[in-house]
Amino acid sequence: MTTPPTPGLRLAFTLIELLVVIAIIGILASLLLPTLGRAKEQARLTRCRSNLHQIGIAFEMYRNENRDRFPPQGQSSHWKSFQYGGGDPNWKFADNLGTLAATNRPLWTYIKAAETFHCPADGGADPLTLTHKFDDTFRDIGTSYRYNYVPWTYPSWHTWQVQADATDGLAGKPGAWVPDPARFVLLAEWPALPYGGTDPMSPSQPPDPTWAVWHFSRSPKSLHSVSAVPQKVIAAVLFVDGHAVASDFGKVVKSNLPAEPTATCVWYKPWR
Ligand SMILES: [Zn+2]
Repeated sequence: MTTPPTPGLRLAFTLIELLVVIAIIGILASLLLPTLGRAKEQARLTRCRSNLHQIGIAFEMYRNENRDRFPPQGQSSHWKSFQYGGGDPNWKFADNLGTLAATNRPLWTYIKAAETFHCPADGGADPLTLTHKFDDTFRDIGTSYRYNYVPWTYPSWHTWQVQADATDGLAGKPGAWVPDPARFVLLAEWPALPYGGTDPMSPSQPPDPTWAVWHFSRSPKSLHSVSAVPQKVIAAVLFVDGHAVASDFGKVVKSNLPAEPTATCVWYKPWR
């Protein structure tokens, strides 16, 4: 014996049921989205390390063909440490006049795919000494990764010890000049060190440190106050021996002497 269908049975959801379902979907999505965001950021960081690894091989090839010497620093312009390889700079910025074109850069022979020099999280920086903001260092100067021939724009700025060569650093030197290849930084993302555009030893120019945060950053990516710098500042770094890592520079970049040696990083060779 079958039950006859109840008269007036509604197959549709009530409004309350619908709202409950929507709320549950909302909660699930909010739980899932940060995880997806982190996975995406992790993938960008992995890509960054892989870029640096490939560029490290290009440096090795360059040295093999140039009596074991590192490439020279760039031509006269604001961006001498961003001209070892990569793409063309953005010529519309006056600061870029005199910056080498892609085909004239030392590593051009070994890597022609400019994207290899592009950090996917590149957010540029906004030094107060410039008239424009760099939104993407790669697009503006040709590479996201800075050549660490000397750590500072002005050699006198914030190195505790006198540098062995505060003008050229390792640029143009043979491999044996570098004291500790596994710890000596060859290339680094901008966030690994603050940027000082003016000489703090000069009383007429107030110092203008700029900190950048690219990977895992919640905007803004460019900061002018140390108190605004987050606890973690993740940046990828390539060492002279060819290995690339991503490290947390948060503590060091907020210190007064961020270019001093740590257990894993050496930024300059001291005078002995
Ligand atoms: Zn990166």
